[in-house]
Amino acid sequence: MTAAPRPLLVVGGGIAGVTAALEAAEAGRDVVLVERDACIGGRVLRNHHYFPKLCPPTCGMEINTRRLERNRRVRVLTGARVTACREDGGGYEVTITHAPAYVTERCTACGACTPVCPAKVKDPFNLGMAEVPAIRLPHPHAWPKRFVLDRAACPDGCHACRDACTYEAIDLAAVERTETLAVGAVVLATGWDPYPLERLPELGGGRSPDVISNVQMERLAAPAGPTGGKILRPSDAQPPRRVAFVQCAGSRDVNHLAYCSAVCCLASLKQAIYVKEQLPDAEVTIYYIDRRAPGRNEEMLTRVAAMDGVRLVKGKVAKVEPNGAALALRLEDVDAGRIVRAEADLVVLATGMVPRSQDTSVFATVIDEDGFAVERPGLAVAGVAHRPEDVAASVRDATGAAARACIAAGRSA
Ligand SMILES: Cc1cc2nc3c(=O)[nH]c(=O)nc-3n(C[C@H](O)[C@H](O)[C@H](O)COP(=O)(O)OP(=O)(O)OC[C@H]3O[C@@H](n4cnc5c(N)ncnc54)[C@H](O)[C@@H]3O)c2cc1C
Ligand code: SF4
Ligand code: SF4
Repeated sequence: MTAAPRPLLVVGGGIAGVTAALEAAEAGRDVVLVERDACIGGRVLRNHHYFPKLCPPTCGMEINTRRLERNRRVRVLTGARVTACREDGGGYEVTITHAPAYVTERCTACGACTPVCPAKVKDPFNLGMAEVPAIRLPHPHAWPKRFVLDRAACPDGCHACRDACTYEAIDLAAVERTETLAVGAVVLATGWDPYPLERLPELGGGRSPDVISNVQMERLAAPAGPTGGKILRPSDAQPPRRVAFVQCAGSRDVNHLAYCSAVCCLASLKQAIYVKEQLPDAEVTIYYIDRRAPGRNEEMLTRVAAMDGVRLVKGKVAKVEPNGAALALRLEDVDAGRIVRAEADLVVLATGMVPRSQDTSVFATVIDEDGFAVERPGLAVAGVAHRPEDVAASVRDATGAAARACIAAGRSA
């Protein structure tokens, strides 16, 4: 009797990992999907809208969660990480560590625990721009739809949430646990983190509350964001009259990220649309080195360039500093051939994507000079773990990675 083929292991439940898991499962392969957060979706769900269609990212993710619910071949492990890995000839033997399940599968998301919770934490979903109770639904579209609890924030002896939960879904004494699995091949889809604003002090990053990153701008524009979807200056909660986008903030710069993050030009064009739709009288200026909007996305560039009150200026911004209640920008205007000064009320730094591949050293992952994971037989790589790319490219990439991992696992079964 031949042994059943081993499952594939997909690490990372963003759009790339979820796609890889579904494609492999729908082709008949068992899959274990490991996601470190409490729910799947990754960074995409933090966007207000996404290009090219400017639709809410939840639509695409809902289709994927329905596919996951229908497909019994994918075992989704949230709040989990791979903490050890050994090549064993048939693939890999991996140890998966599950974070303590303070809120268990019995949770119905009824919400009774949140109002009684006295502890507040910075909301990770909103990038720390809002406070939320220690026990809460991570975000409105969380899947699995289960509450999470930041146990470290609980005052000593508090068990108000447990008392309020009639489903006995809260275990304040839960502990970490591990399991060991034999898998045939791995797809790494660990995605990216935003380049930290604090590393760009010359552009006002970390120095002025009104210098924000492009990922923060997505949350400001989102209805479930810290301002309920209103684009307001963080310093005074007023709508900005002048918004400046600084392209390549820390990207294509050997002192920061040497590479182009591929999506930040498009993200700023999209965000210029958010601003003009909400604040039609605002002046928007995009300071760029090159305008990268390939393929179908060129239409968005043409649309934004034609908008009243939007200027695209070819110039590298060298400095952003407070100037009274406003911000002063110093830049080289390339077309005019001189150094100019400009003012804005809100500056959005188009920061790049930093791969999280270095976090996957348990797989002895080879990392290239920019930090992206390099594929090898039995270890496929998908999405931004692999290279900077948008959602459409991540999905294509993930489909290919799933196929390559299935082939590798087939050989090793
Ligand atoms: C400001 C901005 C706006 C953007 N807007 C758009 C847009 O409008 N349209 C578009 O097409 N693209 C857009 N993008 C790009 C888009 O966000 C990426 O293409 C997409 O996030 C790639 O998905 P991913 O699955 O590779 O990574 P991620 O979304 O980062 O997902 C990775 C997942 O892996 C998990 N993970 C990480 N490490 C581990 C680990 N060790 N163990 C287990 N799990 C782990 C993470 O928690 C996460 O859930 C934008 C990017 C930026 C910066
Ligand atoms: S933990 Fe209990 S009270 Fe809180 S949402 Fe879940 S079921 Fe409701
Ligand atoms: S135990 Fe923690 S999560 Fe529960 S109510 Fe108290 S502070 Fe909130």
